[in-house]
Amino acid sequence: MQAAKSLKARKRVALIAHDHKKQELIEWAVYNKAVLSRHELYATGTTGRLLEDHLDIPVRKLLSGPLGGDQQIGAMVAEGAVDAIIFFWDPMEALPHDPDIKALLRLCAVWNIPMACNRSTADFLLTSPLMHQDYEVILPDYSQYLGRKV
Ligand code: PGA
Repeated sequence: MQAAKSLKARKRVALIAHDHKKQELIEWAVYNKAVLSRHELYATGTTGRLLEDHLDIPVRKLLSGPLGGDQQIGAMVAEGAVDAIIFFWDPMEALPHDPDIKALLRLCAVWNIPMACNRSTADFLLTSPLMHQDYEVILPDYSQYLGRKV
């Protein structure tokens, strides 16, 4: 039988935007404020501060991304403490915390976490009826991996 994880209608959503993508994320978030306010929001430090300034709704702020914020969100993914991620990463600039970014992308694939990496995907994610109802995430079967003899 496949393992599953239940997500509630009120989702725990983590938001991250790299510096050249912050303006775009803020515009998107302001446009979608009513919907976002129905969920529990988390963000890396600077993104979170900007979101709070513009949305006037509480955001749980982690460390700034290059100081470990992406890794904190990655740990939340691994622990099942976040349900969806909006991550506007910058494809046009090399960043000092590139390994942390890759690690977060990887963990979202490992745990089948919905993740939007650009604005149009974020639109599709936020307008999905699944954002507003209970949902069972089918977890990949890692039993063979966990039971391996090394
Ligand atoms: P910031 O971090 O929100 O603190 O700017 C984002 C990032 O660069 O990963």
